[in-house]
Amino acid sequence: MAGKIVIDAERCKGCGLCVIACPREIIVLSKKSNKNGYFPAQTDNHGCTACAMCALMCPEAIIEVYRDEAEDTEVDQEPTGKKEPAFIEEKA
Ligand code: SF4
Ligand code: SF4
Repeated sequence: MAGKIVIDAERCKGCGLCVIACPREIIVLSKKSNKNGYFPAQTDNHGCTACAMCALMCPEAIIEVYRDEAEDTEVDQEPTGKKEPAFIEEKA
């Protein structure tokens, strides 16, 4: 499945977490800084599978993920099946 991402470069802090998260290693940090002085993440999208790992990792939530299907469809990045935290009962 092919996909693509769109990064809001002007809001990127250049933390590099998406670079580390991408299993296809297709995200790099730009050599040119944005208006805030950060070196933003960028990609040519070649090989993107729309897995959304980068978007899930981004602390700024500025990565949009699209699948190359009939229409560009934004991938639902909300976690499915919310789970309550599990507590371990201590035995007295
Ligand atoms: S969606 Fe997946 S494959 Fe595409 S850039 Fe993000 S982490 Fe990489
Ligand atoms: S994780 Fe987000 S803020 Fe960090 S480099 Fe990637 S796009 Fe920029």
